[in-house]
Amino acid sequence: MSGGWDADVAVVGVGTAGSMALWQLAAAGVDAVGFEAYAPGHDGGAAGGETRLYRMAYAEGGRWLGPLRRALDGWRQLERETGAALLTQCGGLSIGHPDEDYVRSVLAMAAEHDVPVEVLDEAEAARRFPQHTLLPGEVAVLDPQAGVLRSDAAVIAAAARAEELGAKVLRHCPVEDIRPHDDHVTVVAAGRTWHFGDVVLCAGSWSGRFLPSDLGARVRPQRVLLSWFAARDPAAFAPARFPVFVRESGGVHLYGTPSVDGVTVKVAGAAVSHVVDDPNALQRRHSPGEVRRMADAVGRFLPDLHPDPVRVDAFTDLYADDGVPMLGRVPGAQRLIAATAFSGRGFKLAPTIGAEVANVVRGDPSPDLAFCAPSEFEVRP
Ligand SMILES: Cc1cc2nc3c(=O)[nH]c(=O)nc-3n(C[C@H](O)[C@H](O)[C@H](O)COP(=O)(O)OP(=O)(O)OC[C@H]3O[C@@H](n4cnc5c(N)ncnc54)[C@H](O)[C@@H]3O)c2cc1C
Repeated sequence: MSGGWDADVAVVGVGTAGSMALWQLAAAGVDAVGFEAYAPGHDGGAAGGETRLYRMAYAEGGRWLGPLRRALDGWRQLERETGAALLTQCGGLSIGHPDEDYVRSVLAMAAEHDVPVEVLDEAEAARRFPQHTLLPGEVAVLDPQAGVLRSDAAVIAAAARAEELGAKVLRHCPVEDIRPHDDHVTVVAAGRTWHFGDVVLCAGSWSGRFLPSDLGARVRPQRVLLSWFAARDPAAFAPARFPVFVRESGGVHLYGTPSVDGVTVKVAGAAVSHVVDDPNALQRRHSPGEVRRMADAVGRFLPDLHPDPVRVDAFTDLYADDGVPMLGRVPGAQRLIAATAFSGRGFKLAPTIGAEVANVVRGDPSPDLAFCAPSEFEVRP
């Protein structure tokens, strides 16, 4: 403890961003406490559903390349420090027509930044990845560095490593209020008021109420649906044979991961995400229409899966209006650091996010993440 505070830094929310932030803060020797409403790895946050996609050839653009490369190193470091197996680089396929936006953006990013990819035409894709049905003229772009992440295991590993390095994690300890002052921040939780030098807001879908109103008005939780399908031949969907994939085909968006349980394959996207007012009132079951849309897409594009899902679930993530995350000190509340609004893309970047929180606390933010600074929200339309 320094400056008379309970700790130098509090991290509010020990989910994806919070667990990594706590790990990196503890590794940097910062006295840090994490408050988590449930416990790290719980299935109500944005990391639920076991797996997430990691990609290097990224349609979202070259500005993410540096953060993605650092994340890859970070995943390997977390694996070394904890012994957990978190990232399987089974490769990733981007499928679609090369004249349409999605595949065109992936190819442009890869060409511009020398990211290695292999373009498979319809016949070659059918030979190597017969699990997918391509439409006439479509291609599959293979990104060999892409892979599948074990999401809940990663949150548990990062939080446990943070504790090993000296951080405290307060489980089942929801924060009720955060009040920034000029030289410290107070937090109300567990029936008392706590004092910290800095507070890092990592509350995911629940962050909006703790942000100043101008920033809070620009973020919204969205419901994202996941479905699992039984494979006719599970071996054909193992990571060694079935890369992660994202496809945009004739107006249908679909993404998925290889089987990690040897039975089912996770596929998502065709049943669209939408804004929810209250993440605590999330509808986790899918409507009959949502199930039908996923079954139709799977029947059409992945014929070796039984098209009726064996499991469905839904999770929320916090989306910014323009899709750019908020990572940095909050204007007008300089002791409050936002690490939130990852807008459906935060998991692959999680170790970079954690490291960036530690950089911001030290006063040394990364220039290539300056576009995520909350102050930038004021200048973006
Ligand atoms: C279904 C789905 C699929 C996705 N697929 C991908 C993918 O393939 N690849 C990818 O890169 N990204 C993907 N994403 C996005 C990524 O998972 C998220 O951007 C990321 O997990 C968000 O992390 P977070 O830390 O902001 O939120 P969370 O992980 O939800 O963490 C927030 C934590 O804060 C806690 N909390 C909330 N309020 C309080 C409070 N008052 N006090 C204490 N604790 C509190 C919550 O309990 C939670 O543990 C996906 C997201 C979803 C929902």
